[in-house]
Amino acid sequence: MAKEYDVVVVGAGPAGLMAAKTAGENGLNVALLERKKSITDINRACSMMVVTLTGKYLDDWVGLNTRDKRLCFPGYGFSVRYDGGHQNFYSWSIYSYKGNKIQLGDYQKNENMGDKGRVSATYSKESLLKCLLEDCYKSNVDVFGSHNVIGTQTKDNKVTVFTREGAKFTGTFVIGADGRASRLAKSLGKNKTRLYYGTNTSFGYEMTGVEPAEKNALFQIFLNEDPPMRIWMTPRAEGDKHFAFISCTHPGQDFIGAFNRFISQGQFAPWFRHAEKTRALSALGNMYSHIEDPYQDQVILISDAVWCQEAEMTGAVITGWKAANSVAFALAEGKISREGVSDYLNWWQDKVINKLDHRDMIRNAVMPYCLTSDDIDYLLSKITKTLKSILDPYETPKIVGGAMAEIIPTVQKERPDVFTKLQTMRTDPLDAIFRNCTRSGFPTTMQAS
Ligand SMILES: Cc1cc2nc3c(=O)[nH]c(=O)nc-3n(C[C@H](O)[C@H](O)[C@H](O)COP(=O)(O)OP(=O)(O)OC[C@H]3O[C@@H](n4cnc5c(N)ncnc54)[C@H](O)[C@@H]3O)c2cc1C
Repeated sequence: MAKEYDVVVVGAGPAGLMAAKTAGENGLNVALLERKKSITDINRACSMMVVTLTGKYLDDWVGLNTRDKRLCFPGYGFSVRYDGGHQNFYSWSIYSYKGNKIQLGDYQKNENMGDKGRVSATYSKESLLKCLLEDCYKSNVDVFGSHNVIGTQTKDNKVTVFTREGAKFTGTFVIGADGRASRLAKSLGKNKTRLYYGTNTSFGYEMTGVEPAEKNALFQIFLNEDPPMRIWMTPRAEGDKHFAFISCTHPGQDFIGAFNRFISQGQFAPWFRHAEKTRALSALGNMYSHIEDPYQDQVILISDAVWCQEAEMTGAVITGWKAANSVAFALAEGKISREGVSDYLNWWQDKVINKLDHRDMIRNAVMPYCLTSDDIDYLLSKITKTLKSILDPYETPKIVGGAMAEIIPTVQKERPDVFTKLQTMRTDPLDAIFRNCTRSGFPTTMQAS
């Protein structure tokens, strides 16, 4: 007969590893199931920026304690081991294809201040996962790689988890941390209650020898393509490397061609004169609204599995920690029910559903579907003051939106055509703006790597 566990955690990304480690540290019997053979290998595109070292995310600030090698979440009252490298970055520039830009943070001033001046830092996801996995082993978690979970069944107060390989695991609770393309969310019917906007593709390269305007900065560059796809570029935490990728929700784009045009032609080509591509990485992700009720039949869904787009590493470890502690409490109280884990469920309502409007996140991707690359160039040329820099997908758009509002009277006078498009961007329902992306996306069949 299969061994019975207090909790079976599905998915060993940062959320699942954190949940398994925390449950193990609480003395629970834990199984952690992961479909990848090697848990710490990162095969998917990720910028690996800490969201965020300035300001707060989910009502907490994140501390990078390099002296003791820990990532700290003081508001929640925990920290995790992190023995990898890091690379500070001091500003965020949003460029048009012609080189006009919005500047968030004064690079020179911030760089002179060192750690105190950083917008944030990049970290190594591989090292983070390695530390979390080691701690799982230390807290007696049974770890099973190469186990692809296909569904669950709840009966007699127990949940059975089935894998494609034919194995079965039984737990009193299951924590589903199987990421953005969550099979558990789908099999429990939770995606039916979400709004779906399209499937975003990210594709790019790790490169050596990149010589950008500022070495330790975050760049977002609108390309001269139709639609104007966006490049994101960050320094890697370790080695003299950068990672640059195109992000686009419009179907059928020529990602490789657009990337090669970006590095070989036009304004930014000089940055890549000596660059060498060392690794190609990609990712697919559905643009959904959050799942409002992440509980069903003793299964608790966390992090990217229930988030609008992505929880970020910060949201992943906080939800893993929170859900595992909630499960430990439910077991201690003998409340094997929704009520037992209400601590987690109430937190989810308070901090995510009531506070983070998914429309703010989705609006980040709106520009290319309302404006041409020349319209964007014109707008960026008008915002000349340096803006406050914070790396937060919900807060930064508000800062840029505020600067945009200030130039509206000028735009109305000089470019009534762009003004009309901006009105559309602001007032049209998101499902109308993303209609073509939604039609051509694939919410049910996608598999992220
Ligand atoms: C292009 C891109 C850039 C990003 N940049 C950043 C950034 O700069 N900073 C940041 O903090 N975050 C970034 N993110 C987001 C970040 O990667 C995620 O929010 C974070 O990894 C979520 O953690 P998770 O554990 O919920 O999911 P994941 O990291 O996706 O982990 C899920 C795990 O579950 C496993 N799994 C999936 N299905 C099954 C199954 N059926 N059975 C068993 N196992 C399964 C997967 O193999 C995976 O290991 C980025 C994401 C993308 C796509």
